[in-house]
Amino acid sequence: MASAYKFVDHVYDVVVVGAGGSGLRAALGCAQAGLKTACVSKVFPTRSHTVAAQGGISASLGNMGADDWRWHMYDTVKGSDWLGDQDAIEYLTRNAPAAVYELEHWGVPFSRTDEGKIYQRAFGGMTKNFGEGPIQRTCAAADRTGHAILHTLYGQSLRRSVEFFTEYFALDLIMDEGACRGVTAWKLDDGTLHRFSAQLVILATGGYGRAYLSCTSAHTCTGDGNAMILRAGLPLQDMEFVQFHPTGIYGAGVLITEGVRGEGGYLTNSEGERFMERYAPSAKDLASRDVVSRSMTVEIKEGRGVGPNKDHIFLHLDHLDPAVIHERLPGISESARIFAGVDVTKEPIPVLPTVHYNMGGIPANYHGEVLTKVGEDNDHVVPGLMAVGEAACVSIHGANRLGSNSLTDLVVFGRAAGLRAAEIVKPGEAQRDIPDSLTDPHLARLDRFRNASGSTPTSTLRMEMQKAMQEDVAVFRIDDTLQQGVKRIADVYDKVADIRTTDRGMIWNTDLMETLEFDNLIGQAAVTVNSAVNRPESRGAHARDDYPDRNDAEWMKHTLAWLDAGTGKVSIDYRPVHTYTMTNDVSYIPPKRRVY
Ligand SMILES: Cc1cc2nc3c(=O)[nH]c(=O)nc-3n(C[C@H](O)[C@H](O)[C@H](O)COP(=O)(O)OP(=O)(O)OC[C@H]3O[C@@H](n4cnc5c(N)ncnc54)[C@H](O)[C@@H]3O)c2cc1C
Repeated sequence: MASAYKFVDHVYDVVVVGAGGSGLRAALGCAQAGLKTACVSKVFPTRSHTVAAQGGISASLGNMGADDWRWHMYDTVKGSDWLGDQDAIEYLTRNAPAAVYELEHWGVPFSRTDEGKIYQRAFGGMTKNFGEGPIQRTCAAADRTGHAILHTLYGQSLRRSVEFFTEYFALDLIMDEGACRGVTAWKLDDGTLHRFSAQLVILATGGYGRAYLSCTSAHTCTGDGNAMILRAGLPLQDMEFVQFHPTGIYGAGVLITEGVRGEGGYLTNSEGERFMERYAPSAKDLASRDVVSRSMTVEIKEGRGVGPNKDHIFLHLDHLDPAVIHERLPGISESARIFAGVDVTKEPIPVLPTVHYNMGGIPANYHGEVLTKVGEDNDHVVPGLMAVGEAACVSIHGANRLGSNSLTDLVVFGRAAGLRAAEIVKPGEAQRDIPDSLTDPHLARLDRFRNASGSTPTSTLRMEMQKAMQEDVAVFRIDDTLQQGVKRIADVYDKVADIRTTDRGMIWNTDLMETLEFDNLIGQAAVTVNSAVNRPESRGAHARDDYPDRNDAEWMKHTLAWLDAGTGKVSIDYRPVHTYTMTNDVSYIPPKRRVY
């Protein structure tokens, strides 16, 4: 079989897989360091999901009043519900202002204050003076911040001669005795296969929101890099923590940014009550996302939802000055009109908590290096491999990400990966040829799905998986439904052996591409539901009705989950949370009770 396929070979110092904000920032950092750098992307770079980021990027610039990176760090540790690694969070928050200024100097058209400084808005969980009250820390380019950042980074990457391989679908990592030596890819528009040999591969493949039925992420967010890690026999970390954004448009799932509430928008139930005042008296509508999503779910469960079926909530901004909406929130006005038929200056938007972000992913340190656990070594670095962006779990978001901390994550750790690459990769160093035995399994998988002639089409299995995840691994979780989820996902996993594709070609074969993506998703779904059933406590986005309390004594630890790709069986181990910082300037231990 393998002889039926031929590879086109390429040799680079560094290959970055993914051209979202994190991939582009890492690639241009490597190119800046004089490394021959390729960037492989299944979509055109500026179509990566980062383009959809609306609300902004957090950094303690202090343009709207005093701010301090230590306050930002405190908020991020607390927002993570004490699962974030504090050394990495220190690195993030200390480096955030420089990373934002760098973007400004490269040309990101940020919104401005009257004095011409970068405009900053309030976002959930961002506070001044260690939790005293809301602060304006989120730097915004209207409500199209991701769009502005992605286009700027793409331009800068071209300027620095990053070589782009656009519409190349990466298949698998080339692993050799525990080290990564490259990656294989399928060129979608002409059907050729490519083998990239590299001293370093950086995975920047984004999240896997599409494991769920209703999510805010693009159809391309299928966590392909995470799945390559699982197939390489490496673990994923903290996959039970899936963030629901409080305000997806009811029915469509399209996002309405938290920036709306940052600008003064608020939620109401069927009685017209601003119910968040009851759940979070101080932060109210700007409490962190897990708190707001749970409160909305409780309102609906208790019969106070809006609409004919009482199954959603209203988001108001009709009280705001239309001029402010026009200037600061033009994009969401358009989304609300198109997807909900609502004029936001006159009527509320119907919204529902919707899957938005994956806190879990590929374990990595704050240099971007991928980690695994070997014996007692909890931080074993996998040679030749890095991960950045939503695909990575550094872990700065812990059990719950604060809004606007992801864009910061992309550029701070994208930059860090470039800096580390400059230290460990020697420009132009000779690389050994890659034997076919290392890539034959990649071809076998491709060939199996290309010629799959079972009885169930991919779309049927994908729908079964998405429904199971949506219903059983939801905002609130209990043992019964999670166990049911484990079984439903295992059933779908088994049915992959009987999958059917119909297009046998290699050129623009979307049937095959969607099948490879589905196969990537089902592995991550298995790991997610098994990690969730295994954690008997409530922490951040993982809210167990049957275990309502956080249990720091036993569960302040990261889950590591391995998948046996043959059987779909998941095995679990743990890594300790880093409660130490880089500098010991600050450290936060968990308080006895939660205060919002
Ligand atoms: C609607 C929306 C709004 C958001 N708003 C904000 C916000 O305001 N502030 C904030 O901080 N965060 C926000 N987030 C979160 C944040 O935007 C994302 O977490 C972040 O953009 C992810 O960036 P990334 O670089 O990790 O990956 P992505 O931008 O998702 O890019 C992934 C890249 O990987 C490539 N890729 C994937 N698989 C393969 C493969 N098999 N082969 C080749 N290439 C592959 C893709 O082509 C793409 O280039 C938002 C998210 C969404 C969905």
